[in-house]
Amino acid sequence: TARVIDGTAVARRVREDVARGVEKLLAEGGTAPGLATVLIGEDPASEVYVRNKRRLCVAAGMADHHRHLPGDVDQATVAALLDELAADPAVSGILLQLPTPEHLDSEALIARIPAEKDVDGLTTANAGLLAQGRPGLRPCTPAGVMTLLEEYDVALSGAEAVVVGRSVLVGKPMAQLLLAQNATVTIAHSRTRDLAEVCRRADVLVVAAGIPGLVGADAVKPGATVIDVGIHRGEDGLHGDVEYDAVAEVAGAITPVPGGVGPMTIAMLLANTLTAATVQQGRAS
Ligand code: NAD
Repeated sequence: TARVIDGTAVARRVREDVARGVEKLLAEGGTAPGLATVLIGEDPASEVYVRNKRRLCVAAGMADHHRHLPGDVDQATVAALLDELAADPAVSGILLQLPTPEHLDSEALIARIPAEKDVDGLTTANAGLLAQGRPGLRPCTPAGVMTLLEEYDVALSGAEAVVVGRSVLVGKPMAQLLLAQNATVTIAHSRTRDLAEVCRRADVLVVAAGIPGLVGADAVKPGATVIDVGIHRGEDGLHGDVEYDAVAEVAGAITPVPGGVGPMTIAMLLANTLTAATVQQGRAS
């Protein structure tokens, strides 16, 4: 059966590296990185995510600049807050928790975040830098997947990689990061004709479709590395987009849900915040 990729352990190591990086920055006369989380409304899942981000940010020695706005706040008020955070030198990174309430234009809000403080890697500037293979802040979830693949010595150069999903948040940047490591990348999505057939090509299969159990054992090449990005909250706990038990019989390595990609996302947010602070303070990153 497949080797289990322990995202909890890797994420802890990344956070420890970040904490050491913060200490080094302070020892060299820099100031503590600051993360501004902006939460709008009362969505319980978003509240949990933001609370965890803030807690781990403080645990890594960074400053917490949290802002909570009411769910009926207007666009101009959020825009003004983002502008204020953008101008605040104590704020190294700005994270607008998504999804925002329906009446707000989240794309226009994200566009107000300066690229160098865009620790979620979601601005068009950072997406463009990634597309061109230039340095920039990368979206946290796909960056976390890349760290897992690296930590587990998964060969990417020349490998067949299939990404299921093409969202701006996960699928597209995931494909570009794999391409940057010289994988042969295929992107599958909701209009893909024969998903299982496409997935069976993969030496590395990353599934980010948001459909529980979408990928079964029939879609996995024996020995493949399977990364499950999906998160679904059921009565009996969290599940992914992959049929874990069946696929673990076929795959060479697999991420569990929970304990795989999930913990990596926050760890990479902290890493991005340290990188942002380091660059803003004129030090090499
Ligand atoms: P999304 O809904 O924006 O995108 C889903 C993508 O999957 C789309 O591009 C769509 O074309 C594709 N898709 C839908 N149905 C499909 C099908 N039947 N076959 C093939 N492709 C199909 O979602 P997202 O933001 O990319 O997130 C995907 C999943 O990852 C969700 O379950 C989300 O909760 C989870 N997620 C997890 C983390 C984490 O930290 N682990 C972070 C972000 C998202």
